[in-house]
Amino acid sequence: MIQLRKPNVIPVNDHIWLLDDHHEATCYVVAGTKQAAVIDTSIGLCNIREVAESLTFLPLICINTHGHGDHMGGNWSFDKAYMNLADLPLAEEWINSQEVQEAMKQFEISYPPFEHVEDGHIFDLGGIELEVIYLPGHTAGEIVLLDRRDRILFSGDGIVQHLWLQLDESLPVRTQIQSMERMLPLRNTFDTVLNGHIQTPYGAELFDTLLEALKDLEAGNTAGDIDYEWLGNVSKAHPYQPEDRRIVYKEK
Ligand SMILES: [Zn+2]
Repeated sequence: MIQLRKPNVIPVNDHIWLLDDHHEATCYVVAGTKQAAVIDTSIGLCNIREVAESLTFLPLICINTHGHGDHMGGNWSFDKAYMNLADLPLAEEWINSQEVQEAMKQFEISYPPFEHVEDGHIFDLGGIELEVIYLPGHTAGEIVLLDRRDRILFSGDGIVQHLWLQLDESLPVRTQIQSMERMLPLRNTFDTVLNGHIQTPYGAELFDTLLEALKDLEAGNTAGDIDYEWLGNVSKAHPYQPEDRRIVYKEK
């Protein structure tokens, strides 16, 4: 069985844990009273199920925020994963890549089926509900999950400090704005944003500053934009404040 490395487990509160996989990706375990949800599974080098089982005795469900390999790579330890199937081609492309196929043979693992999850679906964990909000932008199938009781938004790569919209599979900046504006009626239901690439939580101001910066970008205020190198490519990035935040986008 695959046994490569362990994530750093950081408690968020007494029933939610952040799993930082070597700063490459971040997953979460959310325990209700009936079942626990694992939100994302990182790149595949950790046995995320085993980690979750060390935190809770409850039955587990696995949910992927989207179909990128650094969010569903560890699905191999589960029997099924919930995902919006608009991202199925992306996930299948990753699983069918030569590198992943060779790792699957070497470690005798396989990937379980995906089950479609739609906007508005509610995962009832017992005492805690995770509400699915469809947020196309970074990918066509991106979802975020709202936990109203804890006032937390689990935002995958949809609401992040460095938003990637430059990928082939990413949708236009305008679509990301529309997705976030659709969430505005829910804006007062969360105080914390836990996304797929952090070690410490963000406040909900991340949502506000990101939306403002997206509108600024859409309005053509790009004089301060910079080159952004990623995986051997160069795209444009729109910096925004505070700190060192970025929206990486496709040049028109
Ligand atoms: Zn992604």
